[in-house]
Amino acid sequence: MTIALCDANNFYASCERIFRPDLAGQPIVILSNNDGCIVARSAEAKALGIGMGIPVFKAHHIIQQHNIAVFSSNYSLYGAMSQRLMSILESFTPNVEVYSIDEAFLDLTDLNINASNLTNYGQQVRTTLAQYCGLPMSIGIASTKTLAKLANHYAKQHVEYNGVYEVLPGQETTLLKAMPLGEVWGVGRKLTYKLQAMGLSTAYDLACIPPKVIRKHFSVLLERTVRELNGEPCIDLILEAPSKQQIICSRSFSKRVFNLTDLQEAISSYTSRASEKLRQQNSTAKTIMVFIRTSPFDHNGQYRRSAFIPLPYPTMDTRILITNALKGLKAIYQPGFAYAKAGVMLCELREACSVQHDFFTKQYDTTKTLRLMDTIDAINNQFNNGIFLASNGIQQDWRMARSQLSPSYLSNWNHVKHVLVK
Ligand SMILES: [Mg+2]
Repeated sequence: MTIALCDANNFYASCERIFRPDLAGQPIVILSNNDGCIVARSAEAKALGIGMGIPVFKAHHIIQQHNIAVFSSNYSLYGAMSQRLMSILESFTPNVEVYSIDEAFLDLTDLNINASNLTNYGQQVRTTLAQYCGLPMSIGIASTKTLAKLANHYAKQHVEYNGVYEVLPGQETTLLKAMPLGEVWGVGRKLTYKLQAMGLSTAYDLACIPPKVIRKHFSVLLERTVRELNGEPCIDLILEAPSKQQIICSRSFSKRVFNLTDLQEAISSYTSRASEKLRQQNSTAKTIMVFIRTSPFDHNGQYRRSAFIPLPYPTMDTRILITNALKGLKAIYQPGFAYAKAGVMLCELREACSVQHDFFTKQYDTTKTLRLMDTIDAINNQFNNGIFLASNGIQQDWRMARSQLSPSYLSNWNHVKHVLVK
């Protein structure tokens, strides 16, 4: 097998920079929901020693001192860039496993690329991505997914490879010896400690243990990892993403919320978003769960409740889902608390076509309903928040804080970049 792992460098920061060429070479940080912590950094910000996940107020001084560009996370922008990235990768081979928002495995086995040309091929993929969507990438090429992951990491560490590292026959040992245990795909922190306690420190040490011993003392999963480190492919590419079994939409509020009306708006908005996702994967939901809670850091009164509302029939209709979610909210709401977060979860999902109807109850998702939902989704696809139910509210004072949000360059006509041609 020949597997390439393509991974964007500092993806969120790179997405912001594409539309802000003035920030080339400048440090950039991205904040978490509600602008709380630093969740992504450009290479320059990493070099300044800014840690991952630290609260932004702790970095205030260094941000001022080095004139670091700060952005709220703009997930609609990152999502749109991710789609572009993946479709470009699919133009190279249909065998693409989208592994995360900015990472994909490509199976190059059947492309009949001359073995001596694989690195060139990787460079071609990299140049195309840079040219078509402006994203800097790193690519690791090897005979298994686990090795490709390590190779990718190696490419990021060693600039002399210009973003593409291919594990050539005979070079496996060099790579494995250079990689600490914690970098091995599938070896988490807990497992790393356990293996370190046994005296192992590098990927090479792990690869040297006989797979049978690993299976006996650990798991079949780690055994597969060890086999993969030794160049034996054991983990297949997952070419079609499995449909989600649950869809969750929950957020923290920008400020504490006290009244039922605000909570209703929030629950209504989250349900709208969740049902959009539900329709995207062509599923229906049979149960909806609603939850509200105060902040664990607040000292004056803690309250957290959730409600499961079974629906008589599975549905993908936003209106029915909202009506039921609000019923659940009413049942659990208690006045007098300072609510910090709320959310909904759609459960018991099934494929839309497998729904059973009977003679006695009104059918939920009629052709008319489906057409209405399709139309709403099509409008909202083109215009951000183009059409929504009044119950979502218009002011939405509770909405999470995103004071440094970049424009929706790719999803709002009013935000599209203007280019002056003289
Ligand atoms: Mg990445």
